[in-house]
Formats: sequence, C-alpha cells, structure tokens
Amino acid sequence: MQSYKLAVDMRKLNYLIAIVCLFACTIGNAQTAPFDSAYARLMVDTLASPFSLGRGYYRNADENAANLIATEFFKHNIQPFEKNNYYQQFHFSVNTFPHQVKVALKDRQLIPGVDFIISPETPTVKGTYKVAWADSNTINNRAKLDKFISKKYPKKFVLFNMKGVTDETTKKIVGKVIADNTIGAAGIGVVRDKLTWSVSTTVDNYPTVEFLTGVITKKKQAKKISIDIQNQFFDDYTGRNVLGFVKGTEVPDSFIVFSAHYDHLGIMGTEAIFTGANDNASGCSMMLSLAKHYAKNPAKYSMVFIGWGGEELGLLGSFNYVDKPVFPLGKIKFMLNLDIMGTGDDGITVVNGTGHKAKFDSLVSINKKLNLLKEVKIRNNAANSDHYPFVEKGVPAFFIYTMGGIKAYHDIYDKRETLPMTKFKEVYILLTEFVKTM
Ligand SMILES: [Zn+2]
Repeated sequence: MQSYKLAVDMRKLNYLIAIVCLFACTIGNAQTAPFDSAYARLMVDTLASPFSLGRGYYRNADENAANLIATEFFKHNIQPFEKNNYYQQFHFSVNTFPHQVKVALKDRQLIPGVDFIISPETPTVKGTYKVAWADSNTINNRAKLDKFISKKYPKKFVLFNMKGVTDETTKKIVGKVIADNTIGAAGIGVVRDKLTWSVSTTVDNYPTVEFLTGVITKKKQAKKISIDIQNQFFDDYTGRNVLGFVKGTEVPDSFIVFSAHYDHLGIMGTEAIFTGANDNASGCSMMLSLAKHYAKNPAKYSMVFIGWGGEELGLLGSFNYVDKPVFPLGKIKFMLNLDIMGTGDDGITVVNGTGHKAKFDSLVSINKKLNLLKEVKIRNNAANSDHYPFVEKGVPAFFIYTMGGIKAYHDIYDKRETLPMTKFKEVYILLTEFVKTM
C-alpha cells in the first residue's frame, strides 16, 4: 500500500515536473525569434545551385543572384530606399573564363578544379611548353634557389613544387617570383596541397597553373605541358548592391545593418563551377532569414539589409557603398556583416570584436546564457569581408563567420549538398538576441 501510494505520488510528481518543463521550454522558445529552417535551406540551395553558375560574371549570373535577393525583399515587404529600386550600381573590370580551360601533361588531360586551377589573371593562351622544374630540394636550398630564380625562361613553363617547403621566408621569395614572374617565364606552374581559386580585375600576359599535390609526383610526368585556355575580359562590367529596410518602431532614423555578399567566383571553363554554398550563399540566407523576421516583427531601430556584389574582387560593392551611402553612415548604430555561416561546429569568430569589446562581451554572455555555440571567438579587425570599408569610415561593425566542420573554401567542393548548416539556427538566435540588447 505504502509503495503503491509512493508510486502514485511519484507519477504525480513526474507529471508536475513535465508540465513545469514544458511551460518553461515554451516560454524559452517564445522569447527567441521564430526560425524557418526550410526557408534558410531553400535560399542556400537556390543561390548555390549549379544553375546559379557560381554567381560570377558569365550569363549575368551575378545579376540573377541580385535579382533573387531583390525578389525575396519584395516578397517580405522590405522597403527600397529609392522608389521601386533595390539596386545600387557600380562598375569594374573583370577577367572571366566562360569557354575552355584545358591543361594536359604528356597525354594526360587534367580535370579542371580537381587536378588544377589557373590563376584568375590568366590570358587566352594555347601551346605546348617544355618544363623547367624547381623541386623542393632546389627551393629549400637558398643558394640553389637564388641561382634558379636569377635566370630567365622566356620559352619555358617553370614549375615550382611547394610540397615540403615550410620555411616562411622561402615561401615569400617564391611567392613573389610566381606573382610577378620575375623570371620572365612563358608560363608558371605551382604544385600545392590545396587549390584555392579567386577572381581578378586584371589580366597577366602569361598563364599560371596550380596543380594539386599528387597530380605531378615525378619530373618525367611533366616534361611538357599543353595549355588551351580562353579568357574573356570585361573592362566595364556593371555590378550591383541590393538594399532595403524595415522602419524602426521607436528610433526610425537610427539603423542596424545586416549584410552579406552574394557574389562568388563563377566558373573556370565549362567544367568547373564554384557554387560557393558556404561562401556566401549561407550568409545571404542568414541575411534574408533576418529580413523575413524583422519585416513581420519590426524592431526599435530601422533594420537595413544589404546583399553586396563584387566582394571576391576586393570588397568592391561595400567600398562603393561607403562612398555613396543612401543615408548618412553616422546613423548606423551597428553593422553585422555575415560571411560563411554554413558550419559552426567550433562556434563563431567575431572580426573587429576587439574594436567593440563591450558589444563583443554582450555576444559572449548571450551565448553563455542560451547555451548556443561552443565558442564565440574574438579577432582583430581585418580586410577580409564587407565590414572593412565601414570600419575604416568609423562605423561600429562586426564581421561574423562560423568555424569548424567542412574545410571546402574557394574550391569546387564548397557545395550545397555537403553544407551542413550545423549551427545556423543558433547563430540566428544569437543575432536576434544581440539586437534586443541595443
Ligand atoms: Zn566570402
């Protein structure tokens, strides 16, 4: 009887605990902003689709991405700063590779993006070259290296094997030879452990090819190199930023800016598409998720949402914006630039966290209170994303990126299929809670 009564009492107690927990959890969830995970995934999948052509400068892929962001703004009722116009245009030059990019060793045709990349400054070039090879023994011996790089190679393709080269000074010396072609080579090759592509506003008069370690292991594999590359250079390309806002309920002439660049590297020939899921379809998806939220739930301050163009070309969109802002830069209460939001296994890094320590501490304490991320790491300011031109102009800003998980970066493996979005929701909650503290 006793034990029966105890069992009944325990059941009652458990029931009570369950109700209290449920109530507490519901309250907890109600306090944080609702998050639409299907929408966040859809935006990543659309922007990083192979049909989006890496949001580069072929078939107006960048413009299509900008249009997608503007369409989302329109759907969410985000207001444009100018009547019926979400865009701010700017102009630049850009080198592109919309046609063939072929590199072969002896009789072996290599796979673009997998076995090799070309420098983004590579011109149109077709030919077969004899190779002058600088192996790591030569590179690691200063006297041998100096002798090798003192010569000129007007008819040869000079190949630097950087495998096993660890000395930073040596890397710098070789890096300068490669970047400036001080050896007057017909072409330059580099063997590296990781292929990292980029995009350029200029064209060289010689090709540079980077090979993945393992593609060329012996000299005899690369006695000759055949190249057939076609570039297309635009000297006056029109790019655009996409801007909109939600009016604040209490202090509408003070602004909080959420931004993310939508451009990426485009294609390297018809075979290699750099879809840029993490960099930065993920940041755009976060910016759009926040726009969707604040459109329905206006905040105290006006909330501004910006999709930057031309970031990979050297922060062109944001540099252009700070010269022609649509409202005074001094009215920005805080800016949060989002780039690489797709992982988070190891937390986030806050670039320029040292510049605004109290605000950084606030992020840390929210994170601790809500138990969201493994780490909120502080970093000095750096010119590595679109917050930088704003910080230079004295605007308080952070650039936040996620850490850990997949290592794909500026390569063909930065894909939507493998982007985990591990802590996407947690970062979203952290950002919306952070805004509440302002
Ligand atoms: Zn980026």
